[in-house]
Amino acid sequence: MSERASGARICVPLCADDFEGAWQLAARAHAVADMFELRLDCFDEFARADRAPVELIQALRPFIRERTRPLILTLRPEEQGGWSHLRAEERARFWRELFARGEAPDFVDLELDLIEGLGHEALDWSRIICSHHEFLESPIDLEALYERMARLPARLLKIAVSVTDAVECLPIFHLLARARRDGRQLIAIAMGFAGVVTRVLGPAHGAFLTYAPLIKEGATAPGQVTAAELRDLYRIDAINRETQIYGIIGSPVAYSISPQIHNRAFASRNMDAVYLPFETRDVESFIRRLVHPRTREVDWRWRGLSVTIPHKSAILNLLDSVDEAARQIGAVNTIVVEEDGLRGYNTDAEGVLAPLREAIDLKGARVAIIGAGGAARAALWAFKREGARVTLFARDLPKAQPVAREFGADLQSLAEARFASFDLVVNATPLGARGANEGRTPATAEQLRGAGIAYDLVYNPSETLFLREARQAGCRTIGGLSMLVAQATRQFELWTGEEAPVDLMLEVATRALEKN
Ligand code: NAP
Repeated sequence: MSERASGARICVPLCADDFEGAWQLAARAHAVADMFELRLDCFDEFARADRAPVELIQALRPFIRERTRPLILTLRPEEQGGWSHLRAEERARFWRELFARGEAPDFVDLELDLIEGLGHEALDWSRIICSHHEFLESPIDLEALYERMARLPARLLKIAVSVTDAVECLPIFHLLARARRDGRQLIAIAMGFAGVVTRVLGPAHGAFLTYAPLIKEGATAPGQVTAAELRDLYRIDAINRETQIYGIIGSPVAYSISPQIHNRAFASRNMDAVYLPFETRDVESFIRRLVHPRTREVDWRWRGLSVTIPHKSAILNLLDSVDEAARQIGAVNTIVVEEDGLRGYNTDAEGVLAPLREAIDLKGARVAIIGAGGAARAALWAFKREGARVTLFARDLPKAQPVAREFGADLQSLAEARFASFDLVVNATPLGARGANEGRTPATAEQLRGAGIAYDLVYNPSETLFLREARQAGCRTIGGLSMLVAQATRQFELWTGEEAPVDLMLEVATRALEKN
């Protein structure tokens, strides 16, 4: 049995129906795992109350003896997020017997309430992880919980709370700082996709380990990132307290491929930097408490943020300065974090033009933009600057009227629209995008017949119904992926001052979408 030599300790949970399955998982995970957590609550035979503890320990013995990595044993009850139906007395009987026989492996994860009812003399504290998992919606006093746990002489403390907004991860980092000061070893995790940052940055801030499944389907808690993603995408072994922090804020961000694009770009340049997804609804709190150099409560080396739906407009008021183009567009999709404040930019406008450079001379061209939201505003601004004659097509004319007026564009109703006289038709609505809008199009082949180029800003999926209809109508087509990559390369340049690895970013984005 050995530990991998690495910067961060990754513990891969082994959740299988039986020991045979657990062995197979352990063999597959050996290369990426520093430790294993054997989740006894996943096993059928540990779910039954009629099995005597002695029998269970006998069944377990070969696995413990022949373990290939340090091992944590866990028998998590349902109310703490596990699968065991055993009552507390039954679980307590099993653990007492295990300790009494001296069969406990490197670590045994015991829930705080179970420990408090177990009788301390029965335990070998040098092997105990005292844990608590909190799934309540309302925030709990984590400091008080930590203090209650820290009164016990357990080797490790573990606190996991579920979160729905990235700003709720802050108390986890406060706890890790507190444990460092107290000289206690702590595993502190925010569960749920909004907690990903605690799983990636936790070890650099003193967390004893981070849990990661071998494959996504093997996750034993919400929001777990796979061990391979932690090592290869986020480069967790190289992350330290000096690592530059970047990320994307928005809601939802779970399906964003920006972490793939930017992390690979940073890696290709050997930069000490990481890019994280931040599921954020309360953007004001996020900026104030986590990011802004004057008010933030963390000592992270922030460098930049991407901003996506629904915060591109609201964010303007939270920044110290906003680039003139972004101000005119009314939306910021890129923040550069300086020592004295936050600067906002809009790279969508340049992004929207990039794929058109070779395809069309926009000066005097007739351009139709379908939709009047944030992406349409960036496109309007860019096309007007290039000297195009733009008509906006919207489903809600009174709503779109001020936008058209602001940018000096004509306005027409989308219903019954005909695009024959346009050199370029741009879909700036979410119709066709993965999710509820998949398989929908803002225009049919019949409506598009006679138009020159059809350009879909939707990039996921890369093949949309709008593009298919446009091809059927004889139009040339451009998908949204090249815009996505173009705006990302401009972000990279604003953040780093270096030329972006464009080909690599395009290749990564294409591959990420194929897998999506
Ligand atoms: P947004 O601000 O929410 O605006 C969406 C626009 O689409 C609104 O004008 C909305 O009209 C209209 N719309 C929505 N559903 C419609 C429907 N069923 N029929 C007709 N119009 C409809 O969103 P956004 O930020 O502009 O983004 C639009 C799309 O562009 C998204 O799919 C986004 O992913 C994509 N995008 C791509 C890139 C890229 O790099 N490729 C960059 C930015 C955006 P109402 O106001 O009437 O609701």
